[in-house]
Order: sequence, then C-alpha cells, then structure tokens
Amino acid sequence: MADLEMHVVPAATLETFVADIFYKAGCERVEAERISYHLMGANLTGHDSHGIIRTPRYVQWLQEGKVHAGQKLTIQTESPTHAVVDGNYGFGQSIGPLAVDLGIQKAKAAGMSIIALRHSGHIGRIGDWAERAAAQGLVSIHFVNVAGGELVAPYGGVDRRFSTNPMCVGVPAMGDEPMLLLDFATSMVAEGKVLVASNGGKPLPEGALIEPDGTLSTNPTTLYGPLTPSGPRDAGAGKGALRAFGDHKGSGIAFMCEILAGVLTGGETSGPIPGGKRGQISNGMFSIYLDPTHFGAEGFAARAAEYARYVKASRPSEPGVAVQVPGEKEAHTRAERLANGVPLQLQTWQALLNVAERLGVPAP
Ligand code: NAD
Repeated sequence: MADLEMHVVPAATLETFVADIFYKAGCERVEAERISYHLMGANLTGHDSHGIIRTPRYVQWLQEGKVHAGQKLTIQTESPTHAVVDGNYGFGQSIGPLAVDLGIQKAKAAGMSIIALRHSGHIGRIGDWAERAAAQGLVSIHFVNVAGGELVAPYGGVDRRFSTNPMCVGVPAMGDEPMLLLDFATSMVAEGKVLVASNGGKPLPEGALIEPDGTLSTNPTTLYGPLTPSGPRDAGAGKGALRAFGDHKGSGIAFMCEILAGVLTGGETSGPIPGGKRGQISNGMFSIYLDPTHFGAEGFAARAAEYARYVKASRPSEPGVAVQVPGEKEAHTRAERLANGVPLQLQTWQALLNVAERLGVPAP
C-alpha cells in the first residue's frame, strides 16, 4: 500500500467521525462510540481490513436488520467454569466485551473458564478480546467461525466450505513490553485483505484465491465478481473461493474452528443449515481463559517475556530484518499510528464520506 495515495486522519478525529455515523444510523451514543473504538483498534494495529473500512457494510447490515443495536447476551447454560451465551445478533463490539468479561470473571474465581458464544454480530479483530483478557492477567485462546459467511475452500477442494475462521492466543505482557498475541485468519488472507486489494490496495499473494476450475488466482473478482468503483462488495457474487493457509494444516484448523465455534457453541457452521438464518452473518467464538497463578506458573509473564527475547535473538535470515514475536508488529504500528495518524485508502475515506453524507453527519 506504500505507493498508493493515502488520506491520513488523526486517530481521535477518525474515531469521533465513525462514532457519529453509527449514532446517526440508529445506535445509542455509548454503543456508537464502542463500535468506533473497536474498529479503530484494528486500524491502529495495522489490520485495516477489520477497521473503519467496515463502516458502510455495518450500517447496511443495521438498516437491513442483519445486526441489531442495543443487544445483550442471553445465558443459555452456565456453571462456575463455563457458559454458553447467545449474542442475539447484536453488534460484535457490544457482545464481545460482555462475553469476554464473563470469561474473565469466571476464570478469576475458578482459575479457568470457557465461554461458548453464538450468534454475535461481526466481532472484528479477535486480538481485541485477547488484549482485554490479558489486561486482567489472563491467558486466552479463541477459535472463531462465521456462520453464513462461506468463503474458503478446504484443502484439496474448490467449493467454499469454511469462512476465514480466525484463531487467537493472547499472553499477558511483562511491564512495558508488548503482549504476546497471535491472531490470524485461517485463510491465506483475511477477506478484508481482498476488500483492500479490490480498492487498489496491496495486491494478494500468489495462490490466495481459487477459481471453480481449480486455477489459482490473485484477482479479487474471483471472490466478488465484477467490481464497481465504490460501494459494498458482495462476496456472494464471485464464483471462486479464498484458500486456507498452510495446506492441510491450516485447512484443518479452519475445520476445527467450525466444530468448536459453530457446533459446540450450539450456533451454526458455514454452509447451508436447515432452519438456519442464511444471509445473516454471525460470529461464533469458543474462548478459553486461564489464570496463570492457578497453574502455579511462578512469574509466568516474566518467563514468557524472557523466552520471547531468546526467540528474537535468533540470527535473522535476512540481514538487518530482526525476528519478531507474535504481537510485536501490531504494538509498533499502534504506537506509530497514534503518533502520526491513521492512513486510509482514498476509496475507504470516500466510502466513509458517502455514508456520512447519506446520514447527515458532517465530515471532519
Ligand atoms: P496476519 O496475516 O497479519 O497475521 C497476524 C499475526 O501474525 C499476528 O499475531 C502478528 O503479530 C503475526 N505476525 C505478523 N508478522 C509477523 C512477523 N514478521 N513475525 C512474527 N509474527 C508476525 O493476520 P490476518 O490473517 O490477516 O488477520 C487479520 C485480522 O483479521 C485478525 O485480527 C483476525 O482476528 C481478523 N479476522 C476476523 C474475522 C472475524 O470473523 N471476526 C475473520 C477473519 C480474520
């Protein structure tokens, strides 16, 4: 994206603008600000694909009744160490914190907990939720699926069977060091990266997409069909699929995300489900919260940080390019963007201005 013309907006200005859009679209002020805060969290960590670029699509979903404002969790069943909860198709930025806080509360009391969340609106960047748990001293592990969001072909196949099914592991930070945070989609690229590429952004890596005849592709039309210059992209319009990363191994993790987050939560998997609400995208998230003190792991955060330093001390394969540990890149990007502003592709900025104008929100 480096050679593209970008519009740089101070983080605070952008956060207020996006909150104003959700407020005018029908959310209470506090929810509008929460949605904006979490979308900005993705931009600040460099995951623009899950940031404010989603605003026009979220507003469209709200207006179409595919996501609902002002929702809370419904607890289906619970014990001191687990809960199965339904997000009632509320905004993921509202449902996510409630589910995570329930997991934190139970893990602090019992040493560990599992929260099986179903039917949440899009919960965005999963690292946000691991960061929330790590801030309370907890390790967390998350497996996520996207019911109604079939996008990814399984290893050896061409037909879509999974969504981009992210998994995430977060480890509390030691002092000022960045927290250790592994957070990735199990597709070779997240769908949002195809979205970014379709707007003229960073091209897709070789083999990211596959056509129905098995030909590999890097062309976003494989996923979206013919592209219009602006407006929401429809991933249902293309005939091809994203590919899982890491051959049979990544495809296997994507499969297990469906089983844990789609089936064990009592929610829905990717694919046609009799009686399921097709066309209504929802995230399932199967989360495990662990209190290191419960495991007798003396000085856990310090020992984890020490090991991270050892890993980083591996001699670089490319001279001058240091080994990084999970979460490091995001921490650097956040510091840089908070200081210098958030760069947006011109199409992303224009799409934001368009939705703002429709809703009568003045541009900053
Ligand atoms: P990615 O490919 O950028 O990988 C990110 C991970 O790799 C991070 O843990 C990062 O610290 C680590 N990393 C990056 N460069 C590294 C390096 N040089 N050395 C060591 N580690 C490195 O991420 P992605 O697959 O594009 O996913 C982007 C985001 O999309 C994630 O936050 C994910 O949660 C989110 N997502 C959400 C959904 C959903 O349905 N809500 C679906 C898919 C993806």
